[in-house]
Amino acid sequence: MSESLEAIKSAVRNLKAYSLSPHRASIKLNQNENPWDVTPAIKAETLRRLENRKWSRYPDFISTGLHARLAEFATWTDDGVIAGNGSNELIQALLMVTISERKRVLIAEPTFALYRQVTTVLGGRVVSVPLSSEFKFDVETLLKVTEISNIDVVILCSPNNPTGCVITDEDLRRLLRVAPGLVVIDEAYHEFAEHSVVPLLKEFKNLVVLRTFSKAMGLAGLRVGYLLAAPELVTEIRKAVLPYNLNAISQTAAEVSVELYEAELLPIVKKLISERDRLFNEIGAIEAFVPVRSFANFMIIKTKILPKTIFNELIQRDILIRDVSSYPMLSEYFRVSVGTPEENDRLIAALREL
Ligand code: PMP
Repeated sequence: MSESLEAIKSAVRNLKAYSLSPHRASIKLNQNENPWDVTPAIKAETLRRLENRKWSRYPDFISTGLHARLAEFATWTDDGVIAGNGSNELIQALLMVTISERKRVLIAEPTFALYRQVTTVLGGRVVSVPLSSEFKFDVETLLKVTEISNIDVVILCSPNNPTGCVITDEDLRRLLRVAPGLVVIDEAYHEFAEHSVVPLLKEFKNLVVLRTFSKAMGLAGLRVGYLLAAPELVTEIRKAVLPYNLNAISQTAAEVSVELYEAELLPIVKKLISERDRLFNEIGAIEAFVPVRSFANFMIIKTKILPKTIFNELIQRDILIRDVSSYPMLSEYFRVSVGTPEENDRLIAALREL
């Protein structure tokens, strides 16, 4: 090892970088994005507002206008909101203000890989409770471990990426009551479950909720996410967020998207929910595959054919999916995002062929 590398923490050197396969295809079902672009009305109004803004000037130091809109949209308080450059940035900020050597983060795997990644980079310890054999949260074990293992932060993704399972409000309340530290719910996909844990913020000062504009809101390319928590917590977490973290273009697009959500985006979400259910039934009717019921805009599918073979066969048919077979518990699974009806038809036809 070269001397310069000795400057890097050994926990970091031992870590594999978080990455994504560089494949491209016309039918892109690998990142749980919205398959439809934001509507012309949202784009036109965003561009109109940007036309009238000086690009030579910094955006707001803290995006107060957007924070007020987000608070209203989520039914929470302005001073309990932080907007970020994607929710990834806020996962990092939250862990930066809570995690150092010997601090412990509890997660339920398989889940979104970034929680483990950032915790490890910061020198913290990951405590992992596996999902049940039906890919549900093992709540009893999570409760026990939270209570007895000095857990500083619990992070659950609900609906969970990549399995699509959710935690009920009742189970979450139990967890919030026993947790000595914070409980974070990453609800990046909550629109597709038609449920949010935000109402619990009023009851519990140790709850942190993360949301994103990258999925249902159709703005993955502009990188916007937000965090909701008690104002006293938000004041502290903000200290780890860089000034001007959110550029003026993304701030503006997010404001417009929230204002026009019901008219422009909600119908798309409803369509994706019904396409998810159709995809589940049609793939489930194919002999070689067993899909797992999901509350998000994606699902994992158990396959009798090697997941890697499925990936390669589909990419040859111009369809890109996610091979999740390296995740814990998922050696026989692949994941598909819900696409447009035409894309889903192409996926179903290709899977039938295989
Ligand atoms: N949380 C979860 C559970 C995700 O699946 C993703 C994206 N894959 C993110 C957060 C990141 O979202 P953003 O684009 O807002 O950084």
